[in-house]
Amino acid sequence: MIIVSQNRKKCIGCNYCVELAPEHWRMSKKDGKSVLLGAQEKRGFYTLRLEEEAFEQNQAAAKACPVNIIDVRRG
Ligand code: SF4
Repeated sequence: MIIVSQNRKKCIGCNYCVELAPEHWRMSKKDGKSVLLGAQEKRGFYTLRLEEEAFEQNQAAAKACPVNIIDVRRG
């Protein structure tokens, strides 16, 4: 399993994560920030456990994120 997290309040809505990992990220029409689909929120951090096969896409999103708020690790 992998764990993906997002410090959502700092999202600038650049859309890179949605482009790189479209199965897991969407832009919110409400506030223009991205949403990690299915994630649980705790104190502004959104966290989701995914299968190993989701690692590369989300790692690419984490590397591309200009404000460095996506974290991907094995857990
Ligand atoms: S790449 Fe980062 S800043 Fe851009 S939409 Fe995704 S989480 Fe937000």
